[in-house]
Amino acid sequence: MARTAEHLIEQAQKDNMAYELVQSLTTEIGPRLAGTSAEARARNWAINKLELLGFENVHVESFEVPVWLRGRERARIVSPFPQPLRITALGGSTSTGEHGVEGEVVGFPSLDSLIEADPARVEGKIVFVDEVMARKRDGSGYGVAVQKRLRTAYVAQQLGAIAALIRSVGTSSHRFPHTGQMRPLSDSAGKRGVPMAALSAPDADQLSRVLSYGGPVVVHLLVTSEVRAPAQSGNVIAEIRGRDSPEEIVLAGAHLDSWDLGTGAVDDGAGVGIVIAASRLLLEHLPEAPRRTIRLVLFGSEEVGFVGARDYSERYSAELPQHIVAAESDFGAGDIWRFDTRFPAEQLPYATEIARILSPLDIVRGNNTAYGGPDLRYMRESGVPVITLLQDGTDYFDLHHTPDDTLDKIGPDDLHQNVAAWAAFLYLAAETEVYFRDAEAASVTGTP
Ligand SMILES: [Zn+2]
Repeated sequence: MARTAEHLIEQAQKDNMAYELVQSLTTEIGPRLAGTSAEARARNWAINKLELLGFENVHVESFEVPVWLRGRERARIVSPFPQPLRITALGGSTSTGEHGVEGEVVGFPSLDSLIEADPARVEGKIVFVDEVMARKRDGSGYGVAVQKRLRTAYVAQQLGAIAALIRSVGTSSHRFPHTGQMRPLSDSAGKRGVPMAALSAPDADQLSRVLSYGGPVVVHLLVTSEVRAPAQSGNVIAEIRGRDSPEEIVLAGAHLDSWDLGTGAVDDGAGVGIVIAASRLLLEHLPEAPRRTIRLVLFGSEEVGFVGARDYSERYSAELPQHIVAAESDFGAGDIWRFDTRFPAEQLPYATEIARILSPLDIVRGNNTAYGGPDLRYMRESGVPVITLLQDGTDYFDLHHTPDDTLDKIGPDDLHQNVAAWAAFLYLAAETEVYFRDAEAASVTGTP
């Protein structure tokens, strides 16, 4: 098995399919916001590609999703130093109406300081949360920073504010605001929050400087948006059916939807390209299918609250115990540098074996508390073992959810290492007799 995995790794070095797929998806479909006709075209795109490449059981699993559409968005400092600000509305934001709102800005260094604020300071005003996200290779700054995007509009509403601005959740110093979803409606007790927009980092710096003069700062904010009746979204499924134990699933995921500002190249066109190209290497280079089924899932409506992930977990709830292991590629196009697992202790020796095979790709063995990926959250919670082939995310949040997330940020050779690691992992996980789940069911006879 190790030799076959090494052979797949070699083949991946000269395989440009992942890049070709990202190019095709971002050019022929472009932005593909959840629930829109563009997302539907992306599903058709995926079905055509997957059938053409020889996958089995290629189909769409449909579900509905509420549709939020961006309208106009504009902001300016009215006084003391009149000038425009670059903003973008956050997904789910309410509308200010065509005339916008105008109010004095109250700045807060963090979401926590807003939560603790005296309502008298905030009432009738525009709040500005200026928390800065940390740049980290493993992307761990995001989990902290994203809280302000999820919650500020609701906290501000509770305190009587008329609108909210946040420093973009991102690490870019360019003048691109980062969009992204606010907390889903279902989690916010029917309240829809005040209209909320993100400032680009330089604009947040600017507003912060103006505030530091100490006098009142008045901003005019226009954000219009529209919520449409729930529309169709869906997950695209494709398989390499297992030759011995087809009911046992090794799941490889990515998400097909994107935000509306860029063309979704790093988020998550890259992941779509990587998992399809890696699985296709197995189809092409193995003399027969691996023992277990490899199931590709291209999730829909990830960006607006993991709607496809929830649909998958509910639809397959009875089969989740036969999901042997799951992984998702949703962190851009950087090289993989760490292999994390979430296996029972008994299965860790096999994780070490996989790590050994991946080590020539400059991948180190990581921890046993793998996150897996955003679309695996419900599976992970229900006990499906997950792994993370963790990419270098140092620059990922410069592009994430901005108009600058476009194909030119990925080089034709950038995805080779990712495809190599994914192909090797999928093959090893699908071929081994090791059962990643628990001690009783485990068979430790398999060696890679
Ligand atoms: Zn993503």
